[in-house]
Amino acid sequence: MSDSDTETLEDKEPECLHESHDHDWLPMLSKKESLTLAPHPYCDKCGLVRNVGPDRPRKVGFYMEVLSRIEKHLKKEHDKGGKYKLTETHKRLMVKKIQDEEVFFDLYGVMSSTQEEKFIDIIKDVRPDIEENVIEYYLDY
Ligand SMILES: [Zn+2]
Repeated sequence: MSDSDTETLEDKEPECLHESHDHDWLPMLSKKESLTLAPHPYCDKCGLVRNVGPDRPRKVGFYMEVLSRIEKHLKKEHDKGGKYKLTETHKRLMVKKIQDEEVFFDLYGVMSSTQEEKFIDIIKDVRPDIEENVIEYYLDY
């Protein structure tokens, strides 16, 4: 993978740029005394609800970092005579799959747990022999 691939990933824009006008929903808070549902800001264009919770999404660069840590891990395991290392083809395939997933680029309404599940799916899809707890370890690293 060349440096330019990574730059393209960072630059990719989501389909909807999401514009919400916070003044449209904030007054609801002051008018009503009790609300069963906390008001959430949402996009005026596509209606997607913005994630304002603690489970914040991460930029795609974070997942690229995790991927290269997993790559290093596999190389070490390989040198010890264990796992196969990550080939360029495998890595390129994973990067391609990540690039095709909107959850890594359209961060407006997404949660990090959703991204992590998707990330694990992608890694295991290409390399089913990589244990989920290894991927999780590097996600929490
Ligand atoms: Zn939108």
